[in-house]
Amino acid sequence: MKINHHADDATIMAYAAGTVSEGFSLLLTAHMEVCSHCRERMSLASDLGGELLCEVEPARMSQEGLSNVLSAIEADIIDPVTPFKSPSASSDMASVLMEYVPRGLDELPWQRLMPGIRQYQLTGVESGNGSVRLLSISPGIRIPHHTHLGGELTLVIEGAYEDEIGHFKAGDLADLDASCNHQPVAVGNKPCICLIATDDKLRFTGLLSRMVQPLIGI
Ligand SMILES: [Zn+2]
Repeated sequence: MKINHHADDATIMAYAAGTVSEGFSLLLTAHMEVCSHCRERMSLASDLGGELLCEVEPARMSQEGLSNVLSAIEADIIDPVTPFKSPSASSDMASVLMEYVPRGLDELPWQRLMPGIRQYQLTGVESGNGSVRLLSISPGIRIPHHTHLGGELTLVIEGAYEDEIGHFKAGDLADLDASCNHQPVAVGNKPCICLIATDDKLRFTGLLSRMVQPLIGI
């Protein structure tokens, strides 16, 4: 699968630092199942984060804090970076999404939003004040302009769409901030099915991403 559109560097850094919402994490994990480019950048970001932590002046930890950390490690509460699984052999859908769509896209209780556009809201995924939903857009149908306070990640699951940014097909990820104003239209001869996560929390734009900009080619 050739992927042409990827997560931006700030998003990769935020994901590596564990500061994205569960909804964003779900989309990014699904994208990275099929995108070696983003997997490599994620690995680099994690390594850089570790290096930077090593540079930090050590601080004395209280006995209680230390025992809490050790208990968390023993109880496996501190989650290591989720290993990436290969996509399921029976479906193009990332295996991380199969949990939410176990019987496949056709069996979902789609809700009709307007002619040519159906939606299915994923439940049980923390996304702050945003949401995580699947959209099914019939060929030739244009999504109305919309605004959102935070960022928006869109992962194409099936079919394709085009907008002012480019052509997006299965596996491609659109990583947009609140300033982006676009109007996607489904193209091709079958519906475009996308997973979309919005998140109006603060994005990761701080010191760490600026420090590594020269290294990851921003
Ligand atoms: Zn990618």
